[in-house]
Amino acid sequence: MSCLSNKEELAYELRQAFEAVSPFIEKHTLIVCPQCEDVCCIDKHGRYDEDDILFLSALGVEVVDSNGLKETDPCRYLTEKGCSLPRWRRPFRCTYFFCDTLLRSLEGDDAKFYRAFVDYLQCLIYLRQRLRGLRDDPSK
Ligand code: SF4
Ligand code: SF4
Repeated sequence: MSCLSNKEELAYELRQAFEAVSPFIEKHTLIVCPQCEDVCCIDKHGRYDEDDILFLSALGVEVVDSNGLKETDPCRYLTEKGCSLPRWRRPFRCTYFFCDTLLRSLEGDDAKFYRAFVDYLQCLIYLRQRLRGLRDDPSK
């Protein structure tokens, strides 16, 4: 019998879903992002929304989301080698946002891999919605 609550179990599944989509995205960000002249990693995009905080707190991760940076400053998690956070710890939008260049690169990959990626991504979105549903109605 699991000693985790529904919320924790769902959060662990969601973390696995982030880990499942990450390699395919990384494969393509490694190709396109080093050439980018308008990097999207500004601090505004590295800030968590309430669903991110719900997910991370279910995993015991404390979110400290205030600093003196302006929205347009480079993201607090950005380093010379890219993002310093594993994907599951990043705000969801960092996984869900695809600029045109990145999208073209993803879509240009092997059709079977691309379809599998889309399926994983849909699963991730579904789990995130379920987690929000549990917050709104804990009896679910
Ligand atoms: S995802 Fe697109 S906009 Fe963001 S850094 Fe990569 S190439 Fe640039
Ligand atoms: S958290 Fe990482 S991926 Fe997201 S905006 Fe910041 S540096 Fe970029």
